[in-house]
Amino acid sequence: MLYTGGTIGMMKDPKTGSLVPFDFGNIYEHMPVLRNLDYVIDFYSFENLIDSSNMTPEFWIELAEKIEQNYENYDGFVVLHGSDTMAYSASALSFMLENLAKPVVFTGSQLPMGMVRSDGRENFVTSIEIAASKINGMPCAPEVCIFFENQLLRGNRSTKFNAENFNAFSSGNYPTLADVGIKIKYNREFIAKPKEGKLIVHKKFDRNVGILKLFPGITHAFVKHALSTPGLKGVIMETYGSGNAPTAEWFLDDLADAIRKGLIIYNVTQCKSGSVEMGRYETSLTLDKIGVISGYDITTESALAKMMYLLGEGFSRSKIKKYLQESLRGEMTV
Ligand code: ASP
Repeated sequence: MLYTGGTIGMMKDPKTGSLVPFDFGNIYEHMPVLRNLDYVIDFYSFENLIDSSNMTPEFWIELAEKIEQNYENYDGFVVLHGSDTMAYSASALSFMLENLAKPVVFTGSQLPMGMVRSDGRENFVTSIEIAASKINGMPCAPEVCIFFENQLLRGNRSTKFNAENFNAFSSGNYPTLADVGIKIKYNREFIAKPKEGKLIVHKKFDRNVGILKLFPGITHAFVKHALSTPGLKGVIMETYGSGNAPTAEWFLDDLADAIRKGLIIYNVTQCKSGSVEMGRYETSLTLDKIGVISGYDITTESALAKMMYLLGEGFSRSKIKKYLQESLRGEMTV
């Protein structure tokens, strides 16, 4: 159990009244039921507990290193993490952990564990069960996944879509890996098989990326400035519907110019479900022609992590473009 911070382990600061992370050493006080579980659970609390809004690629690397160092010693890992950026972190970890053969279950909560109606206790205990579950000696969910409320989702297919409901995550383009009620029902046909071969942990991310969300009325100055950000190497462009964008000349010229200078532009849809299909409408045909790369049905969170990972690995531009259009960890359907 790796505790990174987030609401699940938060308490009210008596001075300010706002939520701050508590020391994980107190977890048994908040969750005496843990003593009754029939599993050997070791806890590790990161020194610097954070609200996940402060998440960074450096923290992802620390997290992956902890898993790497302890990989042989455990059947699975539960990561307690704030829900705000959980989908980004789960996506990043999925790219970092190549040949994963054990569950890495991210969970958190909407209400702090110390509160009477907290969803944290259920999420916490069920995640431990999922991380430990085996069938015929094989782990039930050997993937980086997110467990929240009653659904186990593929991490790199998930998005936080609700800031209040206990059911906070959705996976618009991939079925649930498990549905949880009285029983945990694994949807085995959708769960990745445990990978063979040694775990390889990739630890480099390139931060020179950006997200450009299109909106009616977007100005030339804004697009121009965004695309000419010093050092920028990759842009996730959030387009409309099936990958559509304005056909204004200035807009397409700016994109084409940036691509000619080496920028990689990755087309993802603003919709929570469905896929980019460049060329279906006139408004996406030119994007294809000028070299914008299709992200198919990838989420923005996953696209960002994938771009940072591929650039960090130092692949050639043509390799990066190729990988962006392939599913590396089950993150998209091509
Ligand atoms: N702001 C919190 C965080 O993401 C919310 C949560 O834990 O769900 O760390």
